[in-house]
Amino acid sequence: MSKVKCIGILTSGGDAPGMNAAIRAVTRAAICNGLAVKGIYRGYKGLITNEISEFQTQNVSNIIQQGGTILKTARCKEFTTPEGRKLAYDNMQAQGIDALVIIGGDGSLTGARIFAQEFDVPCIGLPGTIDNDLYGTDTTIGYDTALNTILDAVDKIRDTATSHERLFFIEVMGRDAGFLALNGAIAAGAEAAIIPELSTEVDQLQELISNGFRKSKSSSIVLVAESEITGGAMHYAERVKKEFPQYDVRVSILGHVQRGGRPTAHDRILASRMGVAAIDALLEGQRNVMIGIQNNEVVYVPFTRAIKNDKPIDMNLVRVLRELSI
Ligand code: ADP
Repeated sequence: MSKVKCIGILTSGGDAPGMNAAIRAVTRAAICNGLAVKGIYRGYKGLITNEISEFQTQNVSNIIQQGGTILKTARCKEFTTPEGRKLAYDNMQAQGIDALVIIGGDGSLTGARIFAQEFDVPCIGLPGTIDNDLYGTDTTIGYDTALNTILDAVDKIRDTATSHERLFFIEVMGRDAGFLALNGAIAAGAEAAIIPELSTEVDQLQELISNGFRKSKSSSIVLVAESEITGGAMHYAERVKKEFPQYDVRVSILGHVQRGGRPTAHDRILASRMGVAAIDALLEGQRNVMIGIQNNEVVYVPFTRAIKNDKPIDMNLVRVLRELSI
């Protein structure tokens, strides 16, 4: 196995706050260890279209506090074809890049796994997604910031909900994972969370909400994960409105505000640790692993495990929410 001398770094798929902190960490750790760094713009697309430039330490100055990604991100259909990946490989060779660090979610790491297998290129993944849905790491880069953005919004909605004595369904992101909805609900003191991992019947929900109003709660807030499995906040609101017209129901869909903003301290530190760990992994000869942090320790998670396994939600958290929302 030849020694890695030059790494390429890219951000791909859905953006997440803290991606910049990760780019900074990977770049600086690589340079600190004598490696050259090339920034690849717009994810796999830039690898195919050759949008690549050499990075020095100053290219990543003053970005740790910024949301989004200075490398931009994109979804790239061409990379899902063997022809597209061959173009990407040829460009990598021409640029002298001999390893890749990919910051992204499930899809991006799936692409990395296939590319690494096809061309025998060392690839290291960093879990960058607000959804927290990658197996093998306690949290992903961006998740904590998104959770805090949700709290800000829900706290404000609570003020108006209480004033009008309303029932709010608030839709949060998470794709097919309920981490944002469940933990957001606990932290915001919401009455319930509807998540794809557990089925929630409207009458169960009604019981909980009517209990609350009976005990003189002056508002109710239910967080709903956006997934197709749950049907989203609109779906539940319509059903509750129809079956229980006594409630004054409103819906708020938080949307893309959840993706932006200054990363929290947690996400900056997570991204910094993971970026340094990515370079350690490459120097140790690791390949095709995602960097995870479990119980505060860095771990290397093979791509296949990170992608294929569904990360379970903690049923204790479901109980915490239930007991505290009486
Ligand atoms: P995320 O990484 O946030 O889950 P996507 O699922 O959109 O985002 O994936 C990002 C990109 O990763 C895709 O646009 C594509 O270029 C690449 N990718 C995803 N799945 C595959 C696959 N099965 N084969 C090759 N590339 C893939």
